Amino acid sequence: MAWVITRLCRDCVDQACVDVCPVECIYKYTGGDTAKFPNQLYIDPDECIDCGACEPECPWEAIFEDVSVPAVFKEDIGLNAAMTDTKDDFEVPQHVDKDQPTPEQVAENKAKWGMS
Ligand code: SF4
Ligand code: SF4
Repeated sequence: MAWVITRLCRDCVDQACVDVCPVECIYKYTGGDTAKFPNQLYIDPDECIDCGACEPECPWEAIFEDVSVPAVFKEDIGLNAAMTDTKDDFEVPQHVDKDQPTPEQVAENKAKWGMS
């Protein structure tokens, strides 16, 4: 099993999840195909040790175990896994401290992506 970052992460710049990952398997995309890999972070499923440490750190509640990803985000399981095909285009980012979202903003983001 592995954990998955869903599209709820998109355009979040605070990489709080990265700081707590013990095996540094959370990456950002540095390549040019942003239509395929949008501005969010990605977990390498081959490196993830399934510890769950990242999930409570995410202020946007964007991280799920692969078996628990909501139906509307199922495509994101494959999108995270797709990074293993072009690993040279990914790197571990630095943490950028940012204001935390309000509960209302978190709820709005979920609604935007169709999560009830
Ligand atoms: S579950 Fe653990 S190993 Fe996997 S991405 Fe999260 S912090 Fe890293
Ligand atoms: S903490 Fe959550 S929203 Fe922020 S970069 Fe990590 S997965 Fe994305």
